[in-house]
Amino acid sequence: MTRIDTLLSSFPRAALLSQPTPLERLDRLSEELDIDLWIKRDDLTGLSFGGNKTRQLEFYIGAARAAQADTILITGAVQSNFARTAAAAAAKYGMQAVLQREERVPGMDLLYHSNGNVFLSDILGAEAMSYPEGEDEAGADAALEARAEELRAAGRRPYIIPLGLGHAPLGALGYVQGGAELASQIGGFDAAVVPSGSGATHGGFLTGVRLAGITEPVFGICVRRGAQAQKTRLEQVTAELAGLMDIQRPFASDDILTWDGALAPGYGRAGPGTRGALQRMASAEGILLDPVYSAKTFAGLLGLLEEGAIRKGQKVLLLHTGGLPALFAYQNELGFSGAGS
Ligand SMILES: *Cc1c(COP(=O)(O)O)cnc(C)c1O
Repeated sequence: MTRIDTLLSSFPRAALLSQPTPLERLDRLSEELDIDLWIKRDDLTGLSFGGNKTRQLEFYIGAARAAQADTILITGAVQSNFARTAAAAAAKYGMQAVLQREERVPGMDLLYHSNGNVFLSDILGAEAMSYPEGEDEAGADAALEARAEELRAAGRRPYIIPLGLGHAPLGALGYVQGGAELASQIGGFDAAVVPSGSGATHGGFLTGVRLAGITEPVFGICVRRGAQAQKTRLEQVTAELAGLMDIQRPFASDDILTWDGALAPGYGRAGPGTRGALQRMASAEGILLDPVYSAKTFAGLLGLLEEGAIRKGQKVLLLHTGGLPALFAYQNELGFSGAGS
């Protein structure tokens, strides 16, 4: 066992993942952009259309099973990939999922509220409740706790996957493992570009690749909040993660890089940059990205290239975190009519 395997082996874990996920070279985009571009296909993690939450859920579902839970509660945006994947993981282990849908993105249409991840979660047998606001992590967590209390009173054994900070970041362990898996596939890179939302993926990945001995920059592309607020969040996530693993954090604060040039017009909204990145990846490589996270992450890579933070000739890794079911809920937001582009 490697040191990372040993560190992770003390946490209960549920097997959900097809791994390792593929690492592929993007030949046409490499040539167009004059870089050596590689993509880590965590859209292909397997369970129910895949994505990054499968890695995170291995540790949450492991903890839930260790606690003999029979119900998983989770909160997120209406089109939450985490909620959909949790519904699938709960089903696989014979548990009921309760999903709280937060109205995080104002003014969205019927497709957004019924198709994509919402539709799949219904098929997966999840129970749904709604939360009227979107920028209230503490309130959303409290509403979930209140539902858990009702379930306890009815004799059930609920397990909550929390949204806010201040809880053991079990999901980030999945990306410590994911970062180490990537390191063993790729050897090294000059720069990596990953999405940064809750920070479990970015914080775990950064920790994993640093523990594996890679010292090159990892850029976190902001999808939820501005660069400074996201960096502050990552400080806390990575400190909590190191505490959870009982290690010294293997990097300094100035190693946490956040970039928010692809965030506009805001969380869950797709502007022209998002649409352009999505179409560029699709038409150059035949690979689909999602509108909320992975297209913005690729837009971030293009922006960093333009700014010179990533330079011509460099070996660059793009982490594809999945999220593809949301495409079907974002047809109108992205402005596709079905008449060809
Ligand atoms: C949740 C999500 C992210 C962001 O991951 P965090 O761990 O929350 O930062 C990125 N991509 C997709 C597709 C997601 O569903």
